[in-house]
Amino acid sequence: MIRTNAALRRGWCPGALRPMETGDGWLVRLHPRGGRLSVDDLRRIADLARRHGSGLIDITARGNLQLRGVRPETHGPLVEELLATGLADADEGDGPRRLVLASPLAGRQAGEAVDAARLAEGIEAACADLTGLPAKALVVVDGGGLPLEDIAADLRLHADAAGALVIALPDGRWIGSVAPAEAPAAVRALLAPLAEAHRREPGRFRRLRDLPGEALEPEAAALGLHPVDAPVRRPAAPRAGIVPERGGAFAVMAAAPFGRLDAAQLDAVAAVARSHAAHDIRTTPWRGLSLTGLVDPAATLAALAGIGLIADPADPRLAVHACPGAPACLRGEAPAQADATRLAMAAAGRIAGGLTLHVSGCAKGCAHPGRAGVTLVGQGGGYGLVLDGTASDPAHGRFAADILARLLAAPGDLAFTSVPDTVSP
Ligand code: SF4
Repeated sequence: MIRTNAALRRGWCPGALRPMETGDGWLVRLHPRGGRLSVDDLRRIADLARRHGSGLIDITARGNLQLRGVRPETHGPLVEELLATGLADADEGDGPRRLVLASPLAGRQAGEAVDAARLAEGIEAACADLTGLPAKALVVVDGGGLPLEDIAADLRLHADAAGALVIALPDGRWIGSVAPAEAPAAVRALLAPLAEAHRREPGRFRRLRDLPGEALEPEAAALGLHPVDAPVRRPAAPRAGIVPERGGAFAVMAAAPFGRLDAAQLDAVAAVARSHAAHDIRTTPWRGLSLTGLVDPAATLAALAGIGLIADPADPRLAVHACPGAPACLRGEAPAQADATRLAMAAAGRIAGGLTLHVSGCAKGCAHPGRAGVTLVGQGGGYGLVLDGTASDPAHGRFAADILARLLAAPGDLAFTSVPDTVSP
């Protein structure tokens, strides 16, 4: 059944059949299986975005795609085309559309201890009928390829050198290890208490961390799990660049600036993938795309940079989290995405020194729920400045974006204690 107006709601996980209302029209989210797309898929999505939406496409932090600016009268025809081409499922259910996140190069990367792509499919299948699981539930599978340690998850499975999977809870406890063949059933058993609690009290239990610390002890005991030491932490993965694959080929990763592309760029990526004979195209959890199976990766990366994707791992925009903000989001109090590039460039020196910058349209902080060195929170057209905190923390004064760009570009301490309001009423 295609649901349009009747299903329209705000503030929840949208899908293809159930769009979300935003400031720039309806937002339709696609969940490509395993984050994989063909050249034809990219072209189709670009065409659909142009005909049924505003032509703007977001890549989310879970590697999903969002078509923006869909109109009530175009939603029905859009869904029909998505279903006909296999880009959406007729039954989206209420649970997570994509429960497992693995490396975008899973199954191809040199040095992987476990085929994380196959494992992800197994976990998705094992949990498919686990009713009650919150829509935002997430399992990260780190097969030993690109590290995914900067991505918060309900459960984390990390392949050790012997190929076993060590399981971590959100509080950082590593509760034991299982063989890859046992992992899907183990994940299902460990998520079952969350599904049950969320069924009972959906407003209270949305993530595994909302359950009491001992809630999973019976399941861990039944699985024969025993606490283990944390695996050695690896440096964060580069978000752009060239990555060697098994067998002598290469993959490249490039990021969409703040996750945003337009239809022409998507068409251009498809053309690059075809002309460079890429094996496939995958979304990355760093709001970008990877092309795999390449023989001349430097040329492919340069072609993606020419389209406007970020190919340089040192680009300061890669260290900046920014939501769409106003006017695209109805709650936005400042144009976060429009301001983010100049703020990133102004803060380039600080970012090179390790600063993380979050530009948020409002205190909800959708782009980055965690802490950042500097968080700028949309307030009445300007931004509240939060140091080493989250978007919902108290701000030190309110600044116009121009003033903030100057502050971030200048050397020195940002730790103000008392500052005037620099935004005109
Ligand atoms: S944080 Fe950004 S995307 Fe989220 S509600 Fe606020 S303005 Fe909208």
